[in-house]
Amino acid sequence: MNGAYGQRMLEIARRAGLDARELAIPETEPVRAEHVTEVPSAKADVDAVGVVHCETTTGLLNPLAEVTAAIKAAGRLAVVDAVSSFGGVPMDLSGLGIDIMAGSANKCLQGVPGLAFVITRRGLLQPRPAVSPSLTLDLYDQWQEMERSPGKWRFTSPTHAVAALHEALCELVEEGGVAARAGRYRSSGELLVEGMVARGFVPLIAGEWRSDVVTTFLPPVPAFDVPAFYEGLKQAGYLICPGKTATVESFRIGSIGAIGPEVIGGFLDAVSGLMV
Ligand SMILES: *Cc1c(COP(=O)(O)O)cnc(C)c1O
Repeated sequence: MNGAYGQRMLEIARRAGLDARELAIPETEPVRAEHVTEVPSAKADVDAVGVVHCETTTGLLNPLAEVTAAIKAAGRLAVVDAVSSFGGVPMDLSGLGIDIMAGSANKCLQGVPGLAFVITRRGLLQPRPAVSPSLTLDLYDQWQEMERSPGKWRFTSPTHAVAALHEALCELVEEGGVAARAGRYRSSGELLVEGMVARGFVPLIAGEWRSDVVTTFLPPVPAFDVPAFYEGLKQAGYLICPGKTATVESFRIGSIGAIGPEVIGGFLDAVSGLMV
């Protein structure tokens, strides 16, 4: 865990009745192979190790290949929360050896909220009656239903969210696929960081680990009026997120979605207008 989503994964596991252990590292540091191998190999009874790919708390992109290789080398299942990276950060799923990966429609896939999915090995979806403590979130049951009657959910199908995801996937293909989308996010992210740094703001995460999904910035001076800054940007038509870090006052700016460098340019102009 190096952020709120790692913490959420722990809570989800515990609420599901799993004996989950926590391994927390500072929010500004990436998860590395040594974090993964040290603790789990000391505990022979660990079945699976979970990690968040892009920690949306800070925008830190954990080194997925390094971490999953360490998990597999230790003989554990690799469980990845790729909710905020799937579709916007190239990843070679089979090459990475990921066993279970969760994503959702409403981040880099640019769909609407309401649909999440898991990509896993079929072999892990064996009939194990009532393995899920939740009826609603029983993945095996859901999969079985979809195998029996393609396109059908067990309960009311989220039709609008599915139609929106289909449209969003068509748009992803039209854009040129994940590599092209990642390129656009990179251009937006670089422009954003350059522009904010030029205006005195400081990125929380070192460049090497920064994603182009969302970026956390610290204000130029401690006395900076963050609420007035949000309000001014809102008036100008831009919504940014409060920081989610536990330790310092910060805010986050997302650069994913159907926006490009021209929108970031307009945003930076709005920031300039508030700094006079
Ligand atoms: C947004 C997010 C989630 C939760 O997704 P919801 O669509 O809000 O349910 C989980 N993990 C990460 C890394 C996220 O960014």
